[in-house]
Amino acid sequence: MTDCIFCKIAKGEIPSRKIYEDDDIFAFHDINPQRPVHFMIIPKAHIATLYDADVRHHAALGKILTKAGELARGEGLDDGFRLIANTGRVGGQEVYHLHFHVLGGPEPVGPMVQRL
Ligand code: 5GP
Ligand code: ZN
Repeated sequence: MTDCIFCKIAKGEIPSRKIYEDDDIFAFHDINPQRPVHFMIIPKAHIATLYDADVRHHAALGKILTKAGELARGEGLDDGFRLIANTGRVGGQEVYHLHFHVLGGPEPVGPMVQRL
């Protein structure tokens, strides 16, 4: 995807505060942090949403889940964190390149969602 902001970040065409990179995934700090620590882990391949993920993406998505704890610890989150993948309109997704938010800090992140 040529005009996808997260594709450009993953390629280094747009600067970011990078945390980690390998052949399949890229992790970088959120530009507008919602918690003392807030970064994102993305597949390098352009996958718009979780609806669009399929068997071709098993390696990258598996890597994201198995790296999340290590990367969180590396950012000082050794007492828990929250992993979020906002999906589509109802999920509140703003950037249509699949990403997993990692959020945490000294205090509990709080309720999972706002109750109806
Ligand atoms: P979403 O609502 O799609 O789950 O979250 C998108 C996130 O991307 C937001 O938290 C927003 O702050 C972050 N974001 C948007 N544009 C940029 C950018 O150019 N650089 C970085 N580092 N984060 C961005
Ligand atoms: Zn993209």
